Amino acid sequence: MSGLRVRFAPSPTGQLHVGNARTALFNWLLARGQDGIFLLRIEDTDFDRSTVESDRSVLDDLRWLGLTWDEGVEAGGAHGPYRQSERLATYREHADRLLRDGHGYYCFCSAETLEADRAAALAAGRPPMYAGTCRRIPVHDARARVDAGEPALIRLRVPPHRSVAFDDLVRGTVRFDTDVIGDPVLVRSDGIPAYNFAVVIDDALMGITLVVRGEDHISNTPRQLLLYEALGYQPPRFAHVSMVLGPDHTKLSKRHGATSVREFRERGILPEALVNYLALLGWSPGANEELLPLNELARRFRVEDVGHSAGIFDPEKLAWVNRHYLKLASAERLRELSAPFIEAAGWGRAACEDDRRLLEALVVAAVGSVDCLADLPDRVRFLFAFDAETALAVSAIEAELTTPSARAVAQALAEELAGSEPLSTRELFRDAAARVRQKTGAKGKDLFHPIRILLTGDASGMELDLAVPLIEQAAALPRDSGLPRVPTAAERARAFVARLGAR
Ligand code: GLU
Repeated sequence: MSGLRVRFAPSPTGQLHVGNARTALFNWLLARGQDGIFLLRIEDTDFDRSTVESDRSVLDDLRWLGLTWDEGVEAGGAHGPYRQSERLATYREHADRLLRDGHGYYCFCSAETLEADRAAALAAGRPPMYAGTCRRIPVHDARARVDAGEPALIRLRVPPHRSVAFDDLVRGTVRFDTDVIGDPVLVRSDGIPAYNFAVVIDDALMGITLVVRGEDHISNTPRQLLLYEALGYQPPRFAHVSMVLGPDHTKLSKRHGATSVREFRERGILPEALVNYLALLGWSPGANEELLPLNELARRFRVEDVGHSAGIFDPEKLAWVNRHYLKLASAERLRELSAPFIEAAGWGRAACEDDRRLLEALVVAAVGSVDCLADLPDRVRFLFAFDAETALAVSAIEAELTTPSARAVAQALAEELAGSEPLSTRELFRDAAARVRQKTGAKGKDLFHPIRILLTGDASGMELDLAVPLIEQAAALPRDSGLPRVPTAAERARAFVARLGAR
């Protein structure tokens, strides 16, 4: 163990955002690369917005990404509990301590007063900060008012005219003047600790040595440092990493499409692709070496090397990374992962060994041309959703098949396949095509394009050498198959010829 202790501290108020997943990943890479501890704490003190569903789904998504934690929620450890809602007594003790030693004080200003002060400051072009109205209320008076039931906040007394500085591992020295920091709220009037308060107590008591988080928290850090000082705790080091932005350089949000890990997962982006892509947002593992497994990324990762500028989320690049990992995935895994997409398209699910074999051959053949598994049904429609009538309703297809040459190809193909053995290999398919060429004189595009439409019902798609044997394999599935009954190549050609006769 190196003594490095890092943490990820999500608030369970929604799905895990890819920007937060990247923060989790950077922490994980540091812990794994430096033999440290990666801790997971849930910051669920916002009782109005935190949900059990979100809590569960964040944990599930982290595990799915492979970002397992050594200590924390569900994993346990010596510094628990690891959900802030279960630590309220600890926060109360710390608040009492600060009140006793004068670092904290009660504030009785109403929400309306505070809001009016804020609006006035903004209107005057001043930074909105607490005016310090209740700072000078004598302690025993304040106590008496609280004991009499008057609602009160607890604030930290920020020392005036001081400079608070820290060496950020990504940004270098960051300095704030305490005169622009209003006394932060530590505990709200309902007794719930504020983020800045709970986070300091937890990071201190959980022995965190380095805090890696989004730069949206950078203005919280001086407040937190003042709290460490007031509490007499040793602060950790900090690294504030840039935000993940959309292609238009605004914060990545719903407007840009998918933003949560769950959405990418449901589209059939592989976890190893998503983490690899997220690692590349603002960091580079080395020249021309982008596609690397997690353990290798961990070996190379240094938070000091993360760029200052924002990571621009590029869906095209994610698709490229995903295509790489899809090609590496085993047929069995691809079949399992694509099953929900096949099922959602209404094509059932594998019920026997033959089904599984067919689906594996099918996904292996189709996966080279998809960005994610959600694209798969469209690539295999030719197999499960063949319909000559629907195809001929497309005017370009009808025009193409009703030329004299294509009609002759259709006729010859149907005759050739009638009574012949199934075209279950590419060679058998090529031989059949060669005989059609001999009979009709059609060649090249004039031969293969009509054949493609006749056998797949579509003007484009995967190579016929691959598609045709798959059609025959699917058509021969046994009675206990869980997949739709699929017409043979011969039946497909015949269906077209029958319909072309009437046109
Ligand atoms: N719960 C905070 C958030 O999700 C954690 C911030 C921090 O890492 O300190 O933004």
